[in-house]
Amino acid sequence: MSQRITIIGGGPGGYTAAFSAAKAGAQVTLVEAAHMGGTCLNWGCIPTKTLKASADALETAHRLSEFGISGAGEAKPDMPAIVARKNKVSEILRGGLEKTCAKLKVTLLRGRGEVVNAGLVRVHAANGSVQDVVGDKVIIATGSSTLNLPTLPVDHAHIITSDDALELQTVPGRMLVVGGGVIGCELAFIFQALGSKVTVVEGLDRVLPVPSIDADLSKLIQREMKKRGIGCELARTATRAEVTESGVQITLGPSPFVKDLPLSAQKESVLEADVVLVAVGRVPNTAGLGLAEAGVETDQRGWIKADATLQTNVPGIYAVGDVLGPARIMLAHVASMEGLVAVRNCLGASENMDYATVPAAVFTSPEVATVGLTESQAREQGYNVACPQSNFRELGKAQAMGELAGLFKLVVDADSGKLLGAHLAGAHVSDIIAEPTLAMQLGAKAEDLARTIHAHPTLAEGIFETAHLL
Ligand SMILES: Cc1cc2nc3c(=O)[nH]c(=O)nc-3n(C[C@H](O)[C@H](O)[C@H](O)COP(=O)(O)OP(=O)(O)OC[C@H]3O[C@@H](n4cnc5c(N)ncnc54)[C@H](O)[C@@H]3O)c2cc1C
Repeated sequence: MSQRITIIGGGPGGYTAAFSAAKAGAQVTLVEAAHMGGTCLNWGCIPTKTLKASADALETAHRLSEFGISGAGEAKPDMPAIVARKNKVSEILRGGLEKTCAKLKVTLLRGRGEVVNAGLVRVHAANGSVQDVVGDKVIIATGSSTLNLPTLPVDHAHIITSDDALELQTVPGRMLVVGGGVIGCELAFIFQALGSKVTVVEGLDRVLPVPSIDADLSKLIQREMKKRGIGCELARTATRAEVTESGVQITLGPSPFVKDLPLSAQKESVLEADVVLVAVGRVPNTAGLGLAEAGVETDQRGWIKADATLQTNVPGIYAVGDVLGPARIMLAHVASMEGLVAVRNCLGASENMDYATVPAAVFTSPEVATVGLTESQAREQGYNVACPQSNFRELGKAQAMGELAGLFKLVVDADSGKLLGAHLAGAHVSDIIAEPTLAMQLGAKAEDLARTIHAHPTLAEGIFETAHLL
C-alpha cells in the first residue's frame, strides 16, 4: 500500500509537499483552515508585490516627462481598484492551486487540523463537524501570523497589521511604520509611492537589520528613503500609542537594543500619524494544533523544533516552513524546499535540509537581493575576503531604463577565488540574484562569472562587470 501523508497547512510549504508527495505516489490529504496558498499568496509575497506593481506604475506615470512623454494627465491611485486587482491576482493563483489538488488527487479538507499522533489528524470544520484522517506520516506546515505588541494595541483602523495594510481603501496621509525590517520597509516604500508621508521607526541602528543583508545595502536603502522623503528614526522604539481625534500619537524612546546612544537619541519624542503600521515580527500558528498532547517539542517562543531532516522529536511527524521560526529562514521558497525534503524523508530518504545557499529578495525601491555570506560574516569566519563592487549606474541598460540607484557587491574567497556571497541593490535584482545563487550552488569561482558571456545590454551584466574587477 502507498504511504498516507497528511499535511496541515496549505501555504507554500504545505502545498509543495502535497503536490510532490502525490506525484511520488503517496495518498495525500491536505488540511487548510483558511485560504489555499497561505500567508504567501493571500497576505504576504503575492499581495505585497501586486500592490508594489501599482505603486511602481504610479511612479512611472509621474516620471513620464523624463522619458519624453507628455500629456498623460495627472495619475493618482484608486485604492479600491488597486485592492480589487490585488485580490483578483490572489484568487487566480488560489484557483490554480485548487485545480492542481484535484488533478493530482490530493484530498483537500477545509478545517483546522489537530495532530493526535503520527497516524491520526483530527480536522475541525468551521461548522463544528469533526473528521479523523488516518495516515502514516504528518507534515505540519501551519506558518505564522503577525506579532502584536502590548504597547501598540492593534485596532485594525488606526493601529494596523501588515494584513490590514493590504486592504486599505484610502491612502493614509501620514503613516508611521514600526519595524524597519523586510516587511516594514517594503510597505513603507509602497505607501510612500502611493502618496503617504511615511516615517519608519526601527529599534536597531540600521534599516533591514537582518544578518544576511550586507550593511552597505542598508545604507543604500536609507539614502533612497531620504531622497524620497521617508523619515527614518533609528535606534528608537515606540513605547506608547494614543488614538486621538486627529490620528494616533506615538511616543518614541531610546532603544534598549543599541548601546552608547547619542544624547539626542535618549530623549522621548512624540510623532503623530493617521495610521500606525506594526511590522515587528511573526508568531507561530500552533494554537489548537495539539502539539503538547502529541508530545511535539517547541522552543520557548512556541516555534516547532525539528532536526536536520525536518522530523520533530516525535517519529513520523515533520514540520516545514515558517512554523520552524527565525532560526531557520522564514521565506516562501525555503518553506517550499523544506516541503520537498520532508516528503522525500517521509518516503524513506534521510536527507538533510541545506540552508547554505538561500537567496532572499526585498522589494523596496530599489530592490535588494542577497545570497550567501555578507562581507562581515565571511571575515568572521576567517576568510581572506575580496569584495569587488560596482554601481548600477555604470550599466547601459540601467541608464536606458532611468534606474540608476543600486550596486553589485560580490564576496569572494581571495585564496581560492570561490564565490561566497552576492549582495545586490537595484531594479530587478530579485531576478538577477538567481545567477550568483546557481553559481554558488555549483561551487563556482568569481572567475567563472567573469568568463560567462552575458547578453548586452542587460542588468545582469553587473555581475559580469563586478567579477571582472577582481
Ligand atoms: C507582508 C509579507 C510579505 C512577504 N513577502 C515575501 C516575499 O516577497 N518573499 C518570500 O519568500 N516570503 C515573503 N513573506 C514570507 C512568506 O509569506 C512566508 O515565509 C511563507 O508564506 C511561509 O510559508 P508556510 O507554508 O510555512 O506558511 P503560510 O504561508 O503561513 O501557510 C500556512 C497555512 O496554514 C494554515 N493553517 C494554520 N494553522 C492551521 C491548522 N491548525 N489547520 C489547518 N490549516 C492551518 C494557514 O491558514 C495558512 O494557510 C512575506 C510575508 C509577509 C507577512
